[in-house]
This record gives sequence, structure tokens and C-alpha cells, in this order.
Amino acid sequence: MPFPAVGGAALPDQAALHALLLDSLEEQIAVIDREGTIVYVNLAWTTFGLENGLASASAGTGSNYLGVCNMSGSGGDSLAGEAAEGIRDVLAGERASFHFEYPCHSPAEKRWFMMRAAPLQGDPGNLFVISHHNITQRKLAEEQVEYLSLHDPLTGLANRRHFNQFLNNEWRRGIRSRSPLSFVMFDLDHFKDYNDELGHLAGDQCLVRVGQVLQAFAGRPSDLAVRYGGEEFGLLLGSTGLEAAAKIAEAVRQKIEELDMYHREAKRITVSAGVVSVIPDSQQTEMLLVREADKALYLAKQQGRNQVACA
Ligand code: GH3
Ligand code: MG
Ligand code: MG
Repeated sequence: MPFPAVGGAALPDQAALHALLLDSLEEQIAVIDREGTIVYVNLAWTTFGLENGLASASAGTGSNYLGVCNMSGSGGDSLAGEAAEGIRDVLAGERASFHFEYPCHSPAEKRWFMMRAAPLQGDPGNLFVISHHNITQRKLAEEQVEYLSLHDPLTGLANRRHFNQFLNNEWRRGIRSRSPLSFVMFDLDHFKDYNDELGHLAGDQCLVRVGQVLQAFAGRPSDLAVRYGGEEFGLLLGSTGLEAAAKIAEAVRQKIEELDMYHREAKRITVSAGVVSVIPDSQQTEMLLVREADKALYLAKQQGRNQVACA
């Protein structure tokens, strides 16, 4: 459509300009009335619906947005139910605005959106604006920061912070279920010599391979492999008794020996392990596990290394 030229640029009249402006935004915008009926949608709103397989009638002009949310909510999407509740509060004047972050992953990509519901500016309280804004970049960055804060950069295993949180959860779960919780503390034998003879980079590579072995033994959701310190590792085993934990520790010890990583002087990399198993009890703290595993590890070292000792 040809627009009259203003200062060299062709501009439409105000109403047309606003409509075009709203259709140029990436944000998906709808206006609803007090009952939740959609009275306006911008182009991004319609396009998103079409691209995501929504029939335009189910979220387009004339349909009821609260109804759409309720339908998703009763279909098992609890977030949709929460969103509907927040919008209802805004419509009832019980809150000035409602912000809601939610995942909306497609098979091809992870996506998150922020929904905002607020009264239409200048309106006497009959119309409300719903907008959806893509916050995927921020969420991915947050996920990355969270991952980095919980994992050891060298081996990719859980770090101490992650371990402490996980152990606390498992301890409390063990108190409730009265099921045993086991912990194995590992420490590489004579690792200082390995570093001194082959260099720190080779030492790091060795730690990576040991980490891979540990990770392979932490298969269940209640298990966690941790890089506890420099060349100290741990394996937390939920719902596992002493006998089973000692068998796992011995299997790890063997696998590490079988990695066939040698010092120059033909000394093989081996590991010592201390195992402890307790039924968690509210009179104790979870640090009991670490303390006792550490004592057992000390015993394994004293008895000649490359072996498993139980507390
Ligand atoms: P032991 O059998 O008594 O455990 O002897 P050790 O030499 O393994 O024990 P010690 O605690 O004396 O030495 C641990 C060594 O682990 C010291 C350091 O050279 C090495 N180390 C700790 N963290 C790292 C790391 O991140 N990378 C590398 N390459 N080496 C590390
Ligand atoms: Mg050590
Ligand atoms: Mg050591």
C-alpha cells in the first residue's frame, strides 16, 4: 500500500501504522476481554499457532483463551492450568500483572517462553493483553551456567557442590524409606609419581579415563559419580547394601587396572577404595558416610593399595 511521504519516508496513517507495527513484532500478542475471549491477535500469534499445529480456531480471534489453557490443563499440562489461574487473577483485578515462564519444546528444538498478562493501557478494565516472548537464549545460558556450577570441567563428573546436594537428598530419602545408602571413596595410587614422570597433561588424561569408568557404574537415578578432589573420586549408590557396594567397588578397581595406563617405570595405574553402607537415620548427618568411607580408604592404602576395604 502506498504511504504518504513524511520527511523522505512514506508513512501510513496512525491506525494502519500501529497494526503493521504489531504484525512486525516477534512477540506473540493477543487482546482478550473479561471472559477470556480473544478479540485481537497479531501476525506472530497466528503464525506460531499454525507452525505448531494448532487449529487457528482454537487460539484465534473469537475463541476463549482461558478455555484453551483449561483444555491443555485437563489434558495433563499442569503449567497450562497454572497459566490460566494467573490470567484469571489479572482479569479479576486481584493482581496487576502475571508473568509466567514455561517450556514449550518442539521435537526439533528446546524452547521456552515468557507469558505476560496485564490490563490494556488506558482501557477502563475490560480488555487485557496476553503476550508470549521467546526466552530460549536466556534459558539455554542459564542451563549452561547451572551445568558448569555442578560439574567438574575436566572429567564431566558431578563436582562437590552437586554431590553435597545429591547426598543430602538421598540421605533424607533413605531416612523415609529405611533403605541402605552406600558410598565408595576412591583415590589413585601413587598418582604423584605418574604426574612427575609423564607430566600434568598425561595425568589429566588419566583422570578423564578414570572418570569414564566411574560414570559407567553410576547407572541408576539414585547413583552419582563425583570427582571429590584432585585424584579422589566417589560413587554414591542409593538403595544399595554393603555387600553389593563392595562388589561394585571391586569391579571399578579391576576396570581401572585394566585401563593399562603405565608409568614410565612399568607401574600400572591402580586405585584404592573405601566402602561404607548405612541406613540413614535422622540422629546423624550425611557427612558420616564420607567420614567412614575416608577411614576405610585409609585402611586400603595402609594394607598395600590397589584394593577395596570396608568400614
Ligand atoms: P597415594 O597412593 O598415597 O594416594 O599417593 P599419591 O601420590 O596419589 O597421593 P598424593 O595425595 O601425595 O598426591 C596426589 C597427586 O595427585 C598430587 C598431584 O600431583 C595429583 N593431582 C591432583 N589433582 C590433579 C589434577 O587435576 N591433575 C593432575 N594431572 N594431577 C593431579
Ligand atoms: Mg589423594
Ligand atoms: Mg593418591
